[in-house]
Amino acid sequence: MSSTGKQKEEEPETAAETARRQLERAAAHLDVDRGIIERLKHPDQVHRVSVPLERDDGETDIFTGYRAQHDSVRGPFKGGMRYHPGVTEEECTGLSMWMTWKCAVMNLPFGGAKGGVVVNPKELSNEEKERLTRRFAEELRDFIGPMRDIPAPDMGTDAQTMAWFMDAYSMQEGETQPGVVTGKPPVVGGSYGREESPGRSVAIITREACEYYDYPLEDTSVAIQGFGSVGANAALALHEWGANVVAVSDVNGAIYDPDGLNIDEIPTHEEEPEAVTTFDAPKRVSNDELLELDVDVLIPAAIGNVLTESNAHEVKADIVVEGANGPTTTTADEIMEKRDIHVIPDILANAGGVTVSYFEWLQDINRRQWSLERVNEELESEMLGAWNDVRAEVEERDVTWRDAAYIVGLSRIAEAHQARGLWP
Ligand code: GLU
Repeated sequence: MSSTGKQKEEEPETAAETARRQLERAAAHLDVDRGIIERLKHPDQVHRVSVPLERDDGETDIFTGYRAQHDSVRGPFKGGMRYHPGVTEEECTGLSMWMTWKCAVMNLPFGGAKGGVVVNPKELSNEEKERLTRRFAEELRDFIGPMRDIPAPDMGTDAQTMAWFMDAYSMQEGETQPGVVTGKPPVVGGSYGREESPGRSVAIITREACEYYDYPLEDTSVAIQGFGSVGANAALALHEWGANVVAVSDVNGAIYDPDGLNIDEIPTHEEEPEAVTTFDAPKRVSNDELLELDVDVLIPAAIGNVLTESNAHEVKADIVVEGANGPTTTTADEIMEKRDIHVIPDILANAGGVTVSYFEWLQDINRRQWSLERVNEELESEMLGAWNDVRAEVEERDVTWRDAAYIVGLSRIAEAHQARGLWP
Protein backbone atom coordinates (compact mmCIF):
# COMPACT_ATOMS: atom_id res chain seq x y z
CA MET A 1 0.00 0.00 0.00
CA SER A 2 2.81 2.44 0.82
CA SER A 3 4.47 4.18 -2.12
CA THR A 4 8.24 3.91 -2.53
CA GLY A 5 10.33 6.53 -0.80
CA LYS A 6 7.63 7.25 1.74
CA GLN A 7 7.74 6.07 5.30
CA LYS A 8 5.70 2.88 5.63
CA GLU A 9 2.29 3.61 7.13
CA GLU A 10 0.99 1.41 9.91
CA GLU A 11 -1.28 -1.24 8.42
CA PRO A 12 -4.80 -0.83 9.75
CA GLU A 13 -5.06 -3.42 12.48
CA THR A 14 -8.31 -5.28 13.08
CA ALA A 15 -9.69 -5.55 16.61
CA ALA A 16 -9.16 -9.33 16.49
CA GLU A 17 -5.49 -8.93 15.51
CA THR A 18 -4.92 -6.45 18.32
CA ALA A 19 -6.69 -8.73 20.79
CA ARG A 20 -4.58 -11.75 19.70
CA ARG A 21 -1.31 -9.83 20.01
CA GLN A 22 -2.26 -8.59 23.45
CA LEU A 23 -3.10 -12.16 24.45
CA GLU A 24 0.33 -13.39 23.31
CA ARG A 25 2.07 -10.64 25.27
CA ALA A 26 0.29 -11.64 28.45
CA ALA A 27 0.81 -15.35 27.80
CA ALA A 28 4.57 -14.77 27.70
CA HIS A 29 4.44 -13.88 31.42
CA LEU A 30 2.45 -16.94 32.44
CA ASP A 31 2.94 -20.67 32.41
CA VAL A 32 -0.26 -21.49 30.51
CA ASP A 33 -0.84 -24.57 28.37
CA ARG A 34 -0.30 -23.62 24.68
CA GLY A 35 -3.51 -25.40 23.74
CA ILE A 36 -5.51 -23.04 25.93
CA ILE A 37 -3.85 -19.96 24.42
CA GLU A 38 -4.53 -21.25 20.89
CA ARG A 39 -8.13 -21.95 21.82
CA LEU A 40 -8.52 -18.41 23.18
CA LYS A 41 -7.32 -16.95 19.89
CA HIS A 42 -10.48 -18.24 18.22
CA PRO A 43 -14.11 -17.53 19.07
CA ASP A 44 -16.30 -20.50 20.03
CA GLN A 45 -18.85 -19.45 17.40
CA VAL A 46 -19.72 -16.50 15.19
CA HIS A 47 -23.34 -16.28 14.07
CA ARG A 48 -24.12 -14.34 10.93
CA VAL A 49 -27.75 -13.52 10.24
CA SER A 50 -29.74 -11.61 7.64
CA VAL A 51 -32.19 -9.14 9.09
CA PRO A 52 -34.95 -8.05 6.70
CA LEU A 53 -36.53 -4.71 7.53
CA GLU A 54 -39.67 -3.20 6.08
CA ARG A 55 -38.87 0.49 5.65
CA ASP A 56 -41.39 3.20 6.38
CA ASP A 57 -41.94 3.60 2.62
CA GLY A 58 -42.91 -0.08 2.26
CA GLU A 59 -39.65 -1.26 0.65
CA THR A 60 -37.74 -4.15 2.20
CA ASP A 61 -34.01 -3.86 2.95
CA ILE A 62 -31.78 -6.64 4.21
CA PHE A 63 -29.18 -5.90 6.87
CA THR A 64 -26.41 -8.20 8.11
CA GLY A 65 -26.07 -8.95 11.80
CA TYR A 66 -23.44 -10.82 13.81
CA ARG A 67 -23.01 -12.33 17.23
CA ALA A 68 -19.49 -13.48 18.07
CA GLN A 69 -19.30 -15.74 21.11
CA HIS A 70 -15.72 -16.04 22.19
CA ASP A 71 -15.44 -18.06 25.40
CA SER A 72 -17.86 -19.23 28.09
CA VAL A 73 -15.65 -21.20 30.45
CA ARG A 74 -16.49 -18.88 33.37
CA GLY A 75 -20.19 -18.41 32.62
CA PRO A 76 -22.70 -17.29 29.97
CA PHE A 77 -21.43 -15.19 27.05
CA LYS A 78 -21.81 -11.48 27.75
CA GLY A 79 -21.31 -8.33 25.71
CA GLY A 80 -22.82 -5.45 23.81
CA MET A 81 -24.49 -5.11 20.46
CA ARG A 82 -23.68 -2.19 18.23
CA TYR A 83 -25.53 -0.60 15.34
CA HIS A 84 -22.84 0.92 13.17
CA PRO A 85 -21.99 0.91 9.44
CA GLY A 86 -18.45 -0.32 10.25
CA VAL A 87 -19.53 -3.54 12.04
CA THR A 88 -17.70 -6.59 10.64
CA GLU A 89 -17.30 -10.20 11.68
CA GLU A 90 -13.64 -9.54 12.47
CA GLU A 91 -14.51 -6.54 14.63
CA CYS A 92 -17.16 -8.45 16.58
CA THR A 93 -14.66 -11.26 17.11
CA GLY A 94 -11.99 -8.93 18.52
CA LEU A 95 -14.51 -7.12 20.70
CA SER A 96 -15.86 -10.45 21.98
CA MET A 97 -12.32 -11.43 23.03
CA TRP A 98 -11.97 -8.16 24.95
CA MET A 99 -15.27 -8.94 26.73
CA THR A 100 -13.86 -12.30 27.87
CA TRP A 101 -10.82 -10.58 29.45
CA LYS A 102 -12.94 -7.72 30.80
CA CYS A 103 -15.32 -10.06 32.64
CA ALA A 104 -12.38 -12.06 33.99
CA VAL A 105 -10.50 -8.94 35.18
CA MET A 106 -13.66 -7.98 37.08
CA ASN A 107 -14.02 -11.59 38.27
CA LEU A 108 -17.59 -11.76 36.94
CA PRO A 109 -19.10 -15.20 36.17
CA PHE A 110 -19.40 -14.39 32.45
CA GLY A 111 -17.58 -15.13 29.22
CA GLY A 112 -17.24 -12.78 26.25
CA ALA A 113 -19.42 -11.97 23.25
CA LYS A 114 -20.14 -9.04 20.96
CA GLY A 115 -22.51 -8.46 18.11
CA GLY A 116 -24.12 -5.91 15.97
CA VAL A 117 -25.87 -4.94 12.80
CA VAL A 118 -24.16 -3.27 9.84
CA VAL A 119 -26.38 -0.21 9.73
CA ASN A 120 -26.19 3.52 10.27
CA PRO A 121 -28.78 4.05 13.03
CA LYS A 122 -28.99 7.76 12.15
CA GLU A 123 -30.59 6.72 8.87
CA LEU A 124 -33.40 4.76 10.57
CA SER A 125 -36.64 6.20 11.91
CA ASN A 126 -37.56 5.20 15.44
CA GLU A 127 -40.13 2.73 14.09
CA GLU A 128 -37.58 1.21 11.71
CA LYS A 129 -35.11 0.83 14.57
CA GLU A 130 -37.75 -0.98 16.59
CA ARG A 131 -38.64 -3.37 13.74
CA LEU A 132 -34.95 -4.04 13.01
CA THR A 133 -34.26 -4.77 16.69
CA ARG A 134 -37.22 -7.12 17.06
CA ARG A 135 -36.25 -9.09 13.96
CA PHE A 136 -32.59 -9.20 15.00
CA ALA A 137 -33.67 -10.58 18.40
CA GLU A 138 -35.72 -13.24 16.61
CA GLU A 139 -32.81 -14.22 14.32
CA LEU A 140 -30.52 -14.64 17.35
CA ARG A 141 -33.11 -16.35 19.55
CA ASP A 142 -31.63 -19.84 19.37
CA PHE A 143 -28.17 -18.65 20.40
CA ILE A 144 -28.97 -16.31 23.31
CA GLY A 145 -30.80 -16.50 26.64
CA PRO A 146 -30.39 -15.47 30.29
CA MET A 147 -28.11 -18.46 31.00
CA ARG A 148 -26.56 -18.60 27.55
CA ASP A 149 -25.63 -15.24 26.07
CA ILE A 150 -26.78 -11.88 27.40
CA PRO A 151 -26.50 -8.88 25.06
CA ALA A 152 -26.28 -5.24 26.24
CA PRO A 153 -26.05 -1.74 24.74
CA ASP A 154 -22.99 -0.59 22.83
CA MET A 155 -22.37 2.01 20.10
CA GLY A 156 -25.64 3.04 18.43
CA THR A 157 -27.89 1.07 20.82
CA ASP A 158 -29.43 2.13 24.12
CA ALA A 159 -31.90 1.23 26.88
CA GLN A 160 -34.87 1.47 24.50
CA THR A 161 -33.18 -0.92 22.05
CA MET A 162 -32.72 -3.39 24.92
CA ALA A 163 -36.39 -3.04 25.97
CA TRP A 164 -37.53 -3.94 22.41
CA PHE A 165 -35.03 -6.79 22.27
CA MET A 166 -36.22 -8.20 25.61
CA ASP A 167 -39.85 -7.84 24.57
CA ALA A 168 -39.37 -9.62 21.24
CA TYR A 169 -37.49 -12.48 22.93
CA SER A 170 -40.02 -12.75 25.78
CA MET A 171 -43.08 -12.78 23.48
CA GLN A 172 -41.77 -15.87 21.73
CA GLU A 173 -40.78 -17.58 24.98
CA GLY A 174 -44.27 -17.03 26.33
CA GLU A 175 -42.96 -15.42 29.52
CA THR A 176 -41.16 -12.23 30.47
CA GLN A 177 -37.44 -12.92 30.55
CA PRO A 178 -35.80 -9.70 31.72
CA GLY A 179 -32.41 -11.41 32.16
CA VAL A 180 -31.93 -12.00 28.41
CA VAL A 181 -30.38 -8.53 28.00
CA THR A 182 -28.96 -5.91 30.33
CA GLY A 183 -28.99 -2.14 30.02
CA LYS A 184 -32.80 -2.02 29.95
CA PRO A 185 -34.83 0.88 31.37
CA PRO A 186 -35.27 0.37 35.16
CA VAL A 187 -39.06 0.09 34.72
CA VAL A 188 -38.66 -3.24 32.88
CA GLY A 189 -35.94 -4.84 34.96
CA GLY A 190 -33.05 -2.52 34.19
CA SER A 191 -30.67 -1.40 36.90
CA TYR A 192 -30.37 2.09 38.26
CA GLY A 193 -26.95 3.46 37.42
CA ARG A 194 -26.33 1.09 34.46
CA GLU A 195 -26.41 3.90 31.90
CA GLU A 196 -23.81 5.97 33.80
CA SER A 197 -21.68 2.98 34.85
CA PRO A 198 -19.05 2.70 32.08
CA GLY A 199 -18.30 6.44 32.36
CA ARG A 200 -18.39 6.25 36.14
CA SER A 201 -15.86 3.44 36.18
CA VAL A 202 -13.60 5.41 33.83
CA ALA A 203 -13.79 8.27 36.37
CA ILE A 204 -13.08 5.95 39.33
CA ILE A 205 -10.06 4.42 37.59
CA THR A 206 -8.81 7.87 36.53
CA ARG A 207 -9.09 9.03 40.15
CA GLU A 208 -7.14 5.97 41.37
CA ALA A 209 -4.47 6.39 38.68
CA CYS A 210 -4.06 10.06 39.58
CA GLU A 211 -3.65 9.18 43.24
CA TYR A 212 -1.18 6.43 42.40
CA TYR A 213 0.98 8.74 40.31
CA ASP A 214 0.64 11.69 42.71
CA TYR A 215 -1.59 13.95 40.71
CA PRO A 216 -3.97 15.65 43.15
CA LEU A 217 -7.32 15.64 41.32
CA GLU A 218 -7.88 19.41 41.86
CA ASP A 219 -4.63 20.17 39.98
CA THR A 220 -5.16 17.63 37.22
CA SER A 221 -6.16 18.61 33.69
CA VAL A 222 -8.18 16.10 31.68
CA ALA A 223 -9.09 15.97 27.96
CA ILE A 224 -11.88 13.62 26.92
CA GLN A 225 -12.54 12.55 23.35
CA GLY A 226 -16.23 11.73 22.92
CA PHE A 227 -19.24 13.05 24.80
CA GLY A 228 -21.54 10.06 24.40
CA SER A 229 -22.57 7.90 27.34
CA VAL A 230 -18.99 6.99 28.37
CA GLY A 231 -17.28 10.37 27.78
CA ALA A 232 -20.05 12.54 29.23
CA ASN A 233 -20.52 10.46 32.39
CA ALA A 234 -16.76 10.27 32.97
CA ALA A 235 -16.52 14.05 32.45
CA LEU A 236 -19.42 14.78 34.80
CA ALA A 237 -18.05 12.58 37.60
CA LEU A 238 -14.47 13.89 37.29
CA HIS A 239 -15.75 17.48 37.20
CA GLU A 240 -17.83 16.80 40.31
CA TRP A 241 -14.80 15.32 42.10
CA GLY A 242 -12.78 18.46 41.40
CA ALA A 243 -10.68 17.57 38.35
CA ASN A 244 -10.12 20.19 35.69
CA VAL A 245 -11.80 18.86 32.53
CA VAL A 246 -10.34 21.19 29.88
CA ALA A 247 -11.52 19.62 26.62
CA VAL A 248 -14.40 17.44 25.38
CA SER A 249 -15.55 16.60 21.86
CA ASP A 250 -18.14 14.97 19.63
CA VAL A 251 -18.13 14.12 15.91
CA ASN A 252 -18.17 17.84 15.02
CA GLY A 253 -14.98 18.71 16.93
CA ALA A 254 -13.76 19.71 20.37
CA ILE A 255 -14.04 22.64 22.75
CA TYR A 256 -11.09 23.64 24.89
CA ASP A 257 -10.70 25.89 27.91
CA PRO A 258 -7.32 25.63 29.71
CA ASP A 259 -9.01 26.96 32.86
CA GLY A 260 -11.56 24.13 32.85
CA LEU A 261 -14.97 23.70 31.23
CA ASN A 262 -18.23 23.88 33.10
CA ILE A 263 -19.18 20.32 32.21
CA ASP A 264 -22.66 20.48 33.81
CA GLU A 265 -23.75 23.03 31.22
CA ILE A 266 -22.64 21.19 28.07
CA PRO A 267 -25.58 19.38 26.45
CA THR A 268 -25.17 15.61 26.69
CA HIS A 269 -25.96 13.40 23.69
CA GLU A 270 -29.31 12.56 25.27
CA GLU A 271 -30.22 16.21 25.86
CA GLU A 272 -29.18 17.39 22.41
CA PRO A 273 -27.20 15.06 20.11
CA GLU A 274 -23.84 16.27 18.83
CA ALA A 275 -24.14 19.80 20.23
CA VAL A 276 -20.80 20.04 22.09
CA THR A 277 -19.34 22.58 19.68
CA THR A 278 -22.35 24.89 20.05
CA PHE A 279 -21.24 25.47 23.65
CA ASP A 280 -19.51 28.78 24.24
CA ALA A 281 -15.83 28.00 24.99
CA PRO A 282 -12.63 30.02 24.43
CA LYS A 283 -11.21 27.64 21.83
CA ARG A 284 -12.35 25.10 19.27
CA VAL A 285 -9.93 22.37 18.25
CA SER A 286 -10.27 19.27 16.09
CA ASN A 287 -10.69 15.76 17.47
CA ASP A 288 -7.10 14.99 16.37
CA GLU A 289 -5.76 18.07 18.13
CA LEU A 290 -7.59 17.11 21.31
CA LEU A 291 -5.51 13.92 21.50
CA GLU A 292 -2.31 15.98 21.45
CA LEU A 293 -3.28 18.66 24.00
CA ASP A 294 -0.86 19.39 26.83
CA VAL A 295 -2.87 17.79 29.65
CA ASP A 296 -2.15 15.41 32.53
CA VAL A 297 -4.80 12.83 31.59
CA LEU A 298 -6.20 11.90 28.20
CA ILE A 299 -9.39 9.83 27.96
CA PRO A 300 -10.22 8.54 24.46
CA ALA A 301 -13.91 7.65 24.86
CA ALA A 302 -15.27 7.66 21.33
CA ILE A 303 -14.21 4.96 18.84
CA GLY A 304 -11.43 2.41 18.30
CA ASN A 305 -7.96 2.94 16.80
CA VAL A 306 -7.60 6.69 17.43
CA LEU A 307 -4.14 6.48 19.04
CA THR A 308 -1.91 5.18 16.27
CA GLU A 309 1.67 5.23 15.01
CA SER A 310 1.06 8.66 13.52
CA ASN A 311 0.06 10.50 16.69
CA ALA A 312 1.38 8.43 19.64
CA HIS A 313 4.63 10.45 19.58
CA GLU A 314 2.61 13.64 19.96
CA VAL A 315 0.53 12.61 22.98
CA LYS A 316 1.48 14.95 25.83
CA ALA A 317 -0.64 13.42 28.58
CA ASP A 318 1.20 11.43 31.27
CA ILE A 319 -1.75 9.10 31.84
CA VAL A 320 -4.11 7.70 29.19
CA VAL A 321 -7.31 6.07 30.44
CA GLU A 322 -9.14 4.11 27.74
CA GLY A 323 -12.86 4.86 27.83
CA ALA A 324 -13.59 3.44 24.36
CA ASN A 325 -12.96 -0.20 23.50
CA GLY A 326 -9.64 -0.57 21.66
CA PRO A 327 -8.68 3.10 21.11
CA THR A 328 -4.92 2.27 20.98
CA THR A 329 -3.18 0.28 18.24
CA THR A 330 -0.36 -2.12 19.17
CA THR A 331 2.28 0.20 17.70
CA ALA A 332 0.89 3.22 19.54
CA ASP A 333 0.93 1.18 22.72
CA GLU A 334 4.61 0.36 22.24
CA ILE A 335 5.47 3.98 21.46
CA MET A 336 3.69 5.23 24.57
CA GLU A 337 5.31 2.53 26.71
CA LYS A 338 8.75 3.75 25.58
CA ARG A 339 7.68 7.32 26.34
CA ASP A 340 6.67 6.30 29.90
CA ILE A 341 3.04 7.21 29.36
CA HIS A 342 0.84 5.10 31.62
CA VAL A 343 -1.96 3.59 29.56
CA ILE A 344 -4.78 2.20 31.70
CA PRO A 345 -6.59 -0.32 29.47
CA ASP A 346 -10.24 -0.43 28.42
CA ILE A 347 -10.77 -3.89 29.92
CA LEU A 348 -10.28 -2.35 33.35
CA ALA A 349 -11.28 1.30 32.90
CA ASN A 350 -14.68 0.95 31.20
CA ALA A 351 -15.55 -2.38 32.85
CA GLY A 352 -18.08 -0.66 35.11
CA GLY A 353 -20.60 -1.15 32.29
CA VAL A 354 -20.52 -4.93 32.32
CA THR A 355 -20.16 -4.94 36.10
CA VAL A 356 -23.46 -3.13 36.56
CA SER A 357 -24.86 -5.41 33.83
CA TYR A 358 -23.97 -8.27 36.17
CA PHE A 359 -25.79 -6.47 39.01
CA GLU A 360 -28.77 -6.05 36.67
CA TRP A 361 -28.74 -9.73 35.79
CA LEU A 362 -28.72 -10.64 39.51
CA GLN A 363 -31.62 -8.24 40.12
CA ASP A 364 -33.54 -9.87 37.22
CA ILE A 365 -32.96 -13.38 38.56
CA ASN A 366 -34.06 -12.33 42.05
CA ARG A 367 -36.85 -10.05 40.77
CA ARG A 368 -35.66 -7.42 43.24
CA GLN A 369 -34.35 -4.01 42.33
CA TRP A 370 -31.36 -2.39 44.04
CA SER A 371 -31.23 1.31 44.95
CA LEU A 372 -28.88 3.60 43.03
CA GLU A 373 -26.84 4.03 46.22
CA ARG A 374 -26.32 0.28 46.49
CA VAL A 375 -25.38 -0.02 42.80
CA ASN A 376 -22.82 2.78 43.07
CA GLU A 377 -21.39 1.48 46.34
CA GLU A 378 -20.94 -2.03 44.94
CA LEU A 379 -19.54 -0.66 41.67
CA GLU A 380 -16.98 1.38 43.61
CA SER A 381 -15.93 -1.65 45.61
CA GLU A 382 -15.69 -3.96 42.53
CA MET A 383 -13.66 -1.34 40.64
CA LEU A 384 -11.25 -0.85 43.56
CA GLY A 385 -10.87 -4.62 43.89
CA ALA A 386 -9.98 -4.98 40.20
CA TRP A 387 -7.69 -1.91 40.31
CA ASN A 388 -5.79 -3.47 43.25
CA ASP A 389 -5.49 -6.86 41.52
CA VAL A 390 -4.06 -5.19 38.40
CA ARG A 391 -1.83 -2.81 40.39
CA ALA A 392 -0.34 -5.79 42.26
CA GLU A 393 0.76 -7.32 38.92
CA VAL A 394 2.16 -3.97 37.71
CA GLU A 395 4.29 -3.75 40.84
CA GLU A 396 5.28 -7.39 41.06
CA ARG A 397 6.20 -7.94 37.42
CA ASP A 398 7.11 -4.41 36.34
CA VAL A 399 4.80 -4.62 33.31
CA THR A 400 2.42 -2.14 31.64
CA TRP A 401 -1.09 -1.71 32.98
CA ARG A 402 -2.44 -3.46 29.90
CA ASP A 403 -0.18 -6.48 30.33
CA ALA A 404 -1.05 -6.58 34.03
CA ALA A 405 -4.80 -6.54 33.33
CA TYR A 406 -4.39 -9.32 30.74
CA ILE A 407 -2.31 -11.33 33.19
CA VAL A 408 -5.05 -11.05 35.83
CA GLY A 409 -7.79 -11.99 33.32
CA LEU A 410 -5.88 -14.70 31.49
CA SER A 411 -4.78 -16.50 34.65
CA ARG A 412 -8.40 -16.77 35.81
CA ILE A 413 -9.60 -17.99 32.39
CA ALA A 414 -6.73 -20.44 31.96
CA GLU A 415 -7.28 -21.84 35.43
CA ALA A 416 -10.97 -22.39 34.64
CA HIS A 417 -10.11 -24.14 31.35
CA GLN A 418 -7.57 -26.30 33.17
CA ALA A 419 -10.11 -27.25 35.83
CA ARG A 420 -12.91 -28.03 33.38
CA GLY A 421 -10.74 -29.79 30.79
CA LEU A 422 -11.70 -30.58 27.22
CA TRP A 423 -15.00 -32.19 26.31
CA PRO A 424 -15.67 -35.05 25.57
N1 GLU B 1 -20.90 -2.80 25.65
C1 GLU B 1 -20.32 -2.69 26.96
C2 GLU B 1 -18.85 -3.05 26.96
O1 GLU B 1 -18.21 -2.98 25.95
C3 GLU B 1 -21.10 -3.43 28.02
C4 GLU B 1 -21.27 -4.89 27.82
C5 GLU B 1 -22.26 -5.52 28.80
O2 GLU B 1 -22.75 -4.82 29.68
O3 GLU B 1 -22.54 -6.68 28.62
O4 GLU B 1 -18.27 -3.32 27.97
